[in-house]
Amino acid sequence: MTARNASTASSDGIRWDLSDLYAGPDDERIDADLDRAFAQAKDFEGGFRGRIAALDAVELSEAVDTLERLNESVARAGVYAGLLFAADTATARHGALMQHVQERSSEIRNALIFFELEWVALDSEAADALLADPALAKRRHLLESMRRYREHVLSEPEERILEATANTGSRAFSRLFDELLADMRFTLERDGEALDLGEEEVLSLLYDPDRDTRRAAAASLTAGLKSNSRPLAFIFNTLVQDKAVEDELRRYPRPIDSRNLANEIDDASVDSLLSACVARYPLVARYYRLKAKILGLDQLEDFDRYAPIAAESGGRSFAEARQIVLEAYGDFSPEMAEIAGRFFDRNWIDAELRPGKRGGAFCASTLPSLHPFVLLNYTDNLRDVMTVAHELGHGVHQSLAAEQGLFEQDTPLTTAETASVFGEMLVFRRLMKQESDPKVRLALLCGKLEDAFATVFRQVAMTRFEQSLHAARRSEGELPIERVNSLWMEANEPMFGDSVKLSEDYGWWWLYIPHFVHSPFYCYAYAYGELLVLALLRRYDEEGAAFVPRYLDLLRAGGSDTPLVLLGRMGIDVGDPDFWDGGLALLEEMVAEAEALAG
Ligand SMILES: [Zn+2]
Repeated sequence: MTARNASTASSDGIRWDLSDLYAGPDDERIDADLDRAFAQAKDFEGGFRGRIAALDAVELSEAVDTLERLNESVARAGVYAGLLFAADTATARHGALMQHVQERSSEIRNALIFFELEWVALDSEAADALLADPALAKRRHLLESMRRYREHVLSEPEERILEATANTGSRAFSRLFDELLADMRFTLERDGEALDLGEEEVLSLLYDPDRDTRRAAAASLTAGLKSNSRPLAFIFNTLVQDKAVEDELRRYPRPIDSRNLANEIDDASVDSLLSACVARYPLVARYYRLKAKILGLDQLEDFDRYAPIAAESGGRSFAEARQIVLEAYGDFSPEMAEIAGRFFDRNWIDAELRPGKRGGAFCASTLPSLHPFVLLNYTDNLRDVMTVAHELGHGVHQSLAAEQGLFEQDTPLTTAETASVFGEMLVFRRLMKQESDPKVRLALLCGKLEDAFATVFRQVAMTRFEQSLHAARRSEGELPIERVNSLWMEANEPMFGDSVKLSEDYGWWWLYIPHFVHSPFYCYAYAYGELLVLALLRRYDEEGAAFVPRYLDLLRAGGSDTPLVLLGRMGIDVGDPDFWDGGLALLEEMVAEAEALAG
């Protein structure tokens, strides 16, 4: 028996080419860019410190233009260091470069903090008068957004200290989490062969058609997490408490509040999203009972959740994924297919599995004058095709929104998932249309439902877990790992009801979820995005081709206004508490369709 790496996927050799950014970690232009940005920041400080309240609209607009230009150099270095590290966390030089760029960026940010503080300190009357001036029209949303933090900013020396110490505090722990996870190995035996796998590979075995393999993969995942649980739990406890300290300093009453503010969504809307989804939890149980029946199992175990419905529906090479995604995009809009095609043609995608590479998938926006990069861990499963569709949706969105410039190209998280989830739905629909075999259709439909459930209900359960985790840390002090395990179970059990048996092992499975570490309360944005997309699709079905240019305009608008305003232009009212039920009702229709197909 020889230990082997399971990476024999069709994505081998698919690596991104980062040379549009820099030539390598030792490229002298990295520090030259940072030096120049630092000098410009010092100039800016010399010219404007203490004067923001006295600027007229034209001068203020020019000041923001200057800030945007100098931030582009900082962003180039930051994005490059982040991408190098994600592609290979094991090379010490990459971690060191990321730390170096973070520290230098902090110096630059610290020289510029005064701008935001002076601007938000301006009294409302004076600020409103400036914002009403046509000379500031292009910057109105950005400047208004900054003022939402009025109650939460601290004095300049305090802000400087927090910025500088984050590099050895929260950001350092966040990086340690990535390094630990990327380094973890999971061992199991399959067909008499000893496997030595990375996190992505062991997770992908949970989708294996063979039940024993799934059971062994789950046990191996648990064992790996358990053996690393002390440092991982320490990281969680530290970061949760770090957030509690910062929330108190910044006067956020609830742990979720700072995220809602950043998402430009009011607390009531988030609460109504969460409760609408929780009210539909019985739909999850209804689906998994159907799945048990299809699989011929009396009782689904936690490791059966991702069991494929039909083995023959899986298996797509990376080249096939490319074709499927580009065709589905092209059916909707040739422009979208053209943009997505560039990612393949120009090597903006890193798809292969490698030891030391970060798990998961993402699309990183860079500079408006450049293009995004996509990271995947492509393992030839059908759901990997969906991931390609997902990340290229981000890629198209970010490419179209580049015209808004650095400060307004990115949307808040809530609408950041619009184009990605929409792209997945286009691929799903195309696959369904091409397929006539009812068995394969059922498999496709179940796959889509499971994705949608993972995006809606699982993310809602995760958000509720985070709510209880942060609340418990604040009232109980540092949490023993068993306590967090039970909070995780309490958040998940109501969703499955009696349809899936969650083992004690499952209690450990919060330990590898990166969102809890990198961006607390990120998860509900996925539910928001999925339900929003279902509403958009319904609109597309009603309006046909007329919908397409309006949708592309929505993407082009980037983050240039609040989601409420941008979606309002399309006649969609996300402020309506009943809004979420429309998308949830569509999911129920899909479950009924699956029941009919299975029958
Ligand atoms: Zn996404």
